[in-house]
Amino acid sequence: MQSEPVDLLVIGGGVNGTGIARDAAGRGLKVVLAERGDLAGATSAAATKLIHGGLRYLEQYEFRLVREALGEREVLLKLAPHIIWPLRFVLPHHPGLRPAWMIRIGLFLYDHLARRVSLPGSVGLKLTGDPRGAPLKPEFRRGFEYSDGWVDDARLVALNAMSAQELGAEILTRTAVTAARRENGQWQATLTDAGGNTRQVAARGIVNAAGPWVRDTLIGAFGQQPKNGIRLIKGSHIVTRRLFEGEHCYIFQNADGRVLFAIPYEQDFTLIGTTDVALDHLDGAAHISEAETDYLIAAAGEYFKAPITRDMIVWSFAGVRPLYDDGENDPSAITRDYVLDLEGGAAPLLSVYGGKLTTYRRLAEHAMEKLQPFYPKLGPGWTHGKPLPGGDFTSFEALLADLLARYPQLDAAWLRRLARRHGSHLPALLGDAKTIADLGEDFGGGLYAIEVDWLMRREWALDADDVLWRRTKCGLRVTAAQRERLAAWMADRASEGARR
Ligand SMILES: Cc1cc2nc3c(=O)[nH]c(=O)nc-3n(C[C@H](O)[C@H](O)[C@H](O)COP(=O)(O)OP(=O)(O)OC[C@H]3O[C@@H](n4cnc5c(N)ncnc54)[C@H](O)[C@@H]3O)c2cc1C
Repeated sequence: MQSEPVDLLVIGGGVNGTGIARDAAGRGLKVVLAERGDLAGATSAAATKLIHGGLRYLEQYEFRLVREALGEREVLLKLAPHIIWPLRFVLPHHPGLRPAWMIRIGLFLYDHLARRVSLPGSVGLKLTGDPRGAPLKPEFRRGFEYSDGWVDDARLVALNAMSAQELGAEILTRTAVTAARRENGQWQATLTDAGGNTRQVAARGIVNAAGPWVRDTLIGAFGQQPKNGIRLIKGSHIVTRRLFEGEHCYIFQNADGRVLFAIPYEQDFTLIGTTDVALDHLDGAAHISEAETDYLIAAAGEYFKAPITRDMIVWSFAGVRPLYDDGENDPSAITRDYVLDLEGGAAPLLSVYGGKLTTYRRLAEHAMEKLQPFYPKLGPGWTHGKPLPGGDFTSFEALLADLLARYPQLDAAWLRRLARRHGSHLPALLGDAKTIADLGEDFGGGLYAIEVDWLMRREWALDADDVLWRRTKCGLRVTAAQRERLAAWMADRASEGARR
């Protein structure tokens, strides 16, 4: 069946695809987004989760990227204050590595390259006798502290998809774009779902935001020989039981010139990462290797007083950076900036190479600028001032106080966690629920049927891992049996929905 052409078909439901779909839909385009797995099923849920300028990129003279990313911190903090918040980073000075004067210059640039409104600037620190120095080895006596931000990366993707849908976009998950050809001045694309069913979509233009598969998609679906290269650089993280008190993070310099982050994670844990491992090709999902685990334990162990052992690791994850191939050999030095490749003609094809979570909104704006000539009625940029779903509030603590007053019989710590996930949408999710008995089946780890039902209806959650590892991180707290029970419950719910 041939359908009416849509304006834009977006391939890929990571941060870049959903960000572009949202921006385009808000400018009046009719958009379809196809993601072959789950939203944020690849790189966009496997990041270090920093909304940052990238202090280290200054050493690679990436001033354009760092300036844009630093500026975006302030914008994004306002657009999604439930899932994005400021953090302070403690950088212990290592006498054998970068000299203090060099770090001071770097931090000065970091403080001044872009407008800073809410984030405090950098300061020097005396770590001896300071609680921030307490978990560190005693030789780290001095250091620095600066600001960056945190984001729940997988939720950032879900919220962009929800917003795009509210603006009229159609979001299709478990749906791959398997073929596309130009015909009579527009694209004819074949979309194939998980069951092998196909659907034809006619589109005036296509955005290829397939992340690490940007080239594979050009070759496989479009039958092209791409002129641009991509470097697949795997990065892995480990999650341990909480290693230190306080809300600050650490950034450690490694002897190999890389940096390592240790970040408070999901209240009870510490996130440690990351690595840079060049891959020749990508077969399915990325996994942390034994060597990467050893590297992360050893690098963090250079700084923390208490030993870190393998049995402290509760989870690990890996993702693949889809970096634009700039010819650089060292995986850590390949540009982190993005490149948008436009193939014009009657029906445009725009391919996205590289990018950061932090710059996804600006990347989408740049994509729209490139596509403007093909869509003369395209509206102006708008995403800088419009909060993401659930983010239309200014103070998280005020939002929480309101929720605590509204739901006095629900556990305060649980409400805080849910407010972080859903922001101002939480009352809509909870409806008339007053007590724990109203929340439905308890799947463990603070996950109840009422939220799973919302995630299935509103956020495209289809199986247990979508819920446990992407829409929430309850996977950190549930047992295998609880996961099985959730999977069975979701399958029942889905078949009930299909019967209705
Ligand atoms: C280890 C690591 C740490 C990072 N840390 C940070 C950080 O702290 N801060 C930061 O700002 N950035 C960070 N990044 C970078 C950031 O995560 C990525 O740049 C970003 O997530 C890339 O998003 P994307 O949408 O381009 O790709 P992806 O998220 O990979 O999305 C592409 C999607 O396309 C889908 N797809 C592929 N082919 C097809 C097809 N034919 N049809 C339909 N769908 C298809 C895939 O299933 C996938 O979901 C990090 C990255 C890594 C790997």
